Amino acid sequence: MNLYVHFPFCRRKCTYCALHSRAGSSRERRADYVADLARRAEEIDSPLSTVYFGGGSPALCELGPLFAALRPHVAEGCEFTVELHPLDVTRETLESLRHGGVNRISMGVQSLDDATLEHMGRGYTFDEAERAFALVKEHFDNAGIDLIAGYPTEPNCSRLERLADWGLRHCSVYSLILEERSMLSKMVERQAIKLPSDDAVLDRIREVSCFLKSIGLRRYEISNYAAPGFECRHNMAVWRGEDYIGLGEGAHGRIGLTRTVSGVAETVTPETDEKERRLFCLRTIEGLDASGHPEWIKPLDKFADEGLLAKTDEVYRLTERGSEVCDSILAELV
Ligand code: SF4
Repeated sequence: MNLYVHFPFCRRKCTYCALHSRAGSSRERRADYVADLARRAEEIDSPLSTVYFGGGSPALCELGPLFAALRPHVAEGCEFTVELHPLDVTRETLESLRHGGVNRISMGVQSLDDATLEHMGRGYTFDEAERAFALVKEHFDNAGIDLIAGYPTEPNCSRLERLADWGLRHCSVYSLILEERSMLSKMVERQAIKLPSDDAVLDRIREVSCFLKSIGLRRYEISNYAAPGFECRHNMAVWRGEDYIGLGEGAHGRIGLTRTVSGVAETVTPETDEKERRLFCLRTIEGLDASGHPEWIKPLDKFADEGLLAKTDEVYRLTERGSEVCDSILAELV
């Protein structure tokens, strides 16, 4: 079984973010939240092969009680990831994460440009992020970062070369999505800032992608790159259609035909379930095996004819061009 745990607390709200999270929570509120998660974690009845703490900033919480509640359920060899904000990286925090069983870190760097980091409201400079990651690497070999492509103030930045020495095992590169409720969306609305064109964003993604390839990170999913053997097992499990438990305010879960969003459950039909579990394999380099689903062949062949998918027997994989428009392909198929 896989487990995702959501922490909705942040130091402050980033301009581009509309995720379920809030700044300015009290220590007591965070402790109550963890105590509630720990109570619910005690009820887990299957061994966990992956655990992922995301947010928000999980390290703003004292995680000890949750680690203790999870310990009996964590299987041998479990991948245990925690997302970290660079400002949360201290020797003490890293040691307590290791002690709690964590063995993989994902640090949100987001930009390599100081002016952009400031505009985003991230609260650190590139040099500070670099120092934070070096400290992470002293404690965790399996560590990577997240970047955002297409933030309006981001220049085409030569600093990519600096990442060559970081010892990255993983990198996620997400295109900026203008979220309706974000501060950035309001800035765009009142024309205080202009978004880059889709082509400029694609150029940036190609530039980052090419650089990551040059340092040995292979693109194994449309937004994710990893050194061989360091692909995120938790996310791969979700994309391959495995069940996962979601704990916490903003968490999603999928067990059998039941879907939970923020603790509210709904049941989907077996057809929807099958589609959702299978089609998302298209995001990965493993591709989608359409055998046993003759009704999927026609729409998939249409994308193959357009050069967006490559077909080997009944397995379809995104082409380079297809990976740039994957979301619209999936929207049409689902
Ligand atoms: S991007 Fe992350 S750190 Fe920033 S407000 Fe959103 S959840 Fe919090």
